[in-house]
Parts: sequence; C-alpha cells; structure tokens
Amino acid sequence: MKVVLQNLTKVFPSRDKKSGKEVVAVNDFTFEIPDGKLIGLLGPSGCGKSTTLYMISGLQKPTSGKIFFGDDDVTELSTENRGIGLVFQNYALYPHMTVKQNILFPLQNLKGKDKMTKDEMLERAYYAAKLVQIDELMDRKPSELSGGQQQRVAIARALVKMPRVLLLDEPLSNLDARLRLQTREEIRRIQKETGITTVFVTHDQEEAMSISDMIVVMKLGVLQQIGKPQEVYDNPQNLFVAKFLGTPPINVFNGQVANGKLILGENAVLDVPGVADQNVIVGIRPEGFEVDPAGTLECQLTNLEVMGRDVSVVSTHVASQNPLVRSIVDADNKIDLSAQTIRFSLKPHKVFLFNAETEERIYF
Ligand code: ATP
Repeated sequence: MKVVLQNLTKVFPSRDKKSGKEVVAVNDFTFEIPDGKLIGLLGPSGCGKSTTLYMISGLQKPTSGKIFFGDDDVTELSTENRGIGLVFQNYALYPHMTVKQNILFPLQNLKGKDKMTKDEMLERAYYAAKLVQIDELMDRKPSELSGGQQQRVAIARALVKMPRVLLLDEPLSNLDARLRLQTREEIRRIQKETGITTVFVTHDQEEAMSISDMIVVMKLGVLQQIGKPQEVYDNPQNLFVAKFLGTPPINVFNGQVANGKLILGENAVLDVPGVADQNVIVGIRPEGFEVDPAGTLECQLTNLEVMGRDVSVVSTHVASQNPLVRSIVDADNKIDLSAQTIRFSLKPHKVFLFNAETEERIYF
C-alpha cells in the first residue's frame, strides 16, 4: 500500500500566552512512500517526526493537506478505520495480561464484518508471535520478559490485525545497545517478510541509514531531503543534511573560492572548476582525506586513535569550524606522531561546498 502525504501541515496553537507564537510542527510536507518500503523519518528532537507519524495514524488531524493510502483519501478517517499498526517507544503492554492476551486484544475488539472466531483469532495471534519469535513465551506476563521481548510483543500486537501500514515511533529507544542492533535487524526482516509499508521514526541517523529503503531528513518541520540512505550520504543537498548524517561527523571549514581553487586557510586544497569566487562553507567527510606528504592540506597533528583496520587522525586546522579535524585513514599508513604537522590530499567526491549564507550545496 503506497502512502502519499500531500502538502501536509500541522500548526499547534501557542501555549505561551506572552509570545502568542504558534508552532508549525510540520510545514507543507509532500512525499510518497512506495508500496512495501521501509521509510526512516529522521531529524533532531522537535523537528516534527512524531507529529508526521501521528497524522499518518490519525491520532492527530492535519491543519491542512491530505493523506492517501493507495488511492483512498484517509485524511478524515479515524485511527481505528485506517488499518494501521502502531508501535511506540514505551511498549505500553497490558501488565495484567499474558503475552497471548496482549496480542489477541486488538482482534477481540473487531466489530461487524471484521469480527473473527476464536480459532481464527488464535491462528492470527500465533502467526504474529512466530514472526517476531516469541511464540514460546505466550503464557508469560510482560513483567517476566526482557525489554527486547516486550518490544517484540508490541510489534506482534501491531501486526496481528494485518495492517496496511506499520508505524513505528522510536521503537528501539528503551533497549540497550546490543538489543537495539538485534531488534532493528529483526524489524527489517519482519518488514521484508510481510511487505507492509512501514514508517520508522528515529533521531538516530545510523539506525535510520541501516534499515531504511529511503530516508526522509527533517528540520524544524521542513523536509530537507529524501532518498536512499547512501545517496543522501553521498550527495547532501545542504549543510544540515551533510552534518546530520555520518559518524564520525563531517568536518566543516570556512573557505574561499578564488580563480577556480578552493582555499582553506593558507592552502589551495582543490580545483573547483566553474565555481564563482566567494566565501563558502566546506564539508569534508572523514574518509575524504588521504595521508600524502605532497598533499595540499596541512593540519597540525594532535593524536592518533587506532580502530583496528582504520586509524582516526585527530588534528587541527585554522579554517576548521570545530576544534578538531577527524579523518579516517587506513592503518597501513605510516604516520609519525612526533611530527607536528600532517599533510593530506583530498578525495574530490568527499568534499562538499555550501553557500556561506543559504547553506545550500554548490556543485562543482
Ligand atoms: P522528538 O524526537 O523529541 O520526539 P519530534 O521530531 O518527534 O521530536 P514532534 O514531537 O513532532 O517532534 O514536535 C514538533 C514540534 O511541535 C515541537 O516544537 C513540539 O514542541 C511541538 N509540539 C508537538 N506536539 C505539540 C502539542 N500537542 N502542542 C503544542 N506543540 C506541540
């Protein structure tokens, strides 16, 4: 089932009587989620991710704009009638019910033509439980389960009605690092197995990049960029997106373009043909540096951090916006820590230029 958001906007009235300022939580959002895909809605706290998800679910009504599931306009439809499955950060299982009763619960409330027999309900509940691999735990109470198992019950409960669309709001936040990794892989597997169109909200870029078919990056209610994770990483349209994706984060410098050359501090570091003379903001991915005694960029060497196959070279540069410049290079490089400086050449496709005022990408 494809999901289409058309000029979706949500304005909350002011809570602050003094300023009287409204909050535009989601601003004129338009995009299409293809059938059967997993979309990661990504952005910093307060950027409008949850509000977008709640509008898709029907829990919140848009101020303007429309939502379609397939060709059906569901904008005015209640949550119960949209055919969605919802999973929240805190799993909100019923503590006095067993796992089985928790999963059966949404089916027992079906009415009219959707009403099911007891056997049908049990069959569905076991199908959902098997999908998330908790069918052995059906008689336990939530308090007798680990956090990861509880979250799986919540996912089974969302899947049991065979939703048209699955909506996940930070579903992994309450899990420890190892379980997070395992559960996110599990969500991906379940999503692929069921083919249910899924929207996954997270502020964790690594999480979104690792499981999504497409990511949607948001800032202050405004859509910044949509695309396959690798495409967005390789081709950020503005400085915000470039900074938001990647660990370690992109290195940001203040630079100038003069006569087709990019200048950082005293160094002419790269040819940027076709770019007009101007001040620019320069982003260089950590993997965009190559240790090269004849390289064009000279940094003051601070430290080396060995990370197995790679080495993180920590240095400083007068044009850097951050105190430290972090580059990731192959551990085979012989780096003399007693030297005060280190020279790099730059991989042009890992260097991005941005307009110093608008912070939009300048292509070269
Ligand atoms: P987080 O990652 O912290 O959950 P988010 O990206 O999901 O953030 P939202 O919860 O969608 O962000 O909130 C977007 C903006 O709308 C924020 O500025 C928030 O304060 C505001 N907001 C959300 N709900 C309401 C509400 N019911 N009334 C007023 N303002 C609200």
